[in-house]
Amino acid sequence: MLPVAFCGTMKKCESCGMPMEAKEDFGGGKEDNKYCVYCTDKDGNLKTRDEVREGMVSFYMKSKGMERAVAEKFVDEYMKTMPAWKD
Ligand SMILES: [Zn+2]
Repeated sequence: MLPVAFCGTMKKCESCGMPMEAKEDFGGGKEDNKYCVYCTDKDGNLKTRDEVREGMVSFYMKSKGMERAVAEKFVDEYMKTMPAWKD
């Protein structure tokens, strides 16, 4: 897997991988934020792993119709690939 910096000019959230284009997509509305608005609090600080995980699980349950157990497994695997959460 290539580092995020090699994936073109598009900035992606280092926590959930969402592409960030508009100013409002960035945490706290700060365009130098590595994290998106969904992964941060109103000041642009990264939320806890559990908060981000729960947000993504809900997202996949709603948008993909996944059952919770399936969504949790998917999100756990996915988060391991993100710079913010890999150990
Ligand atoms: Zn994010």
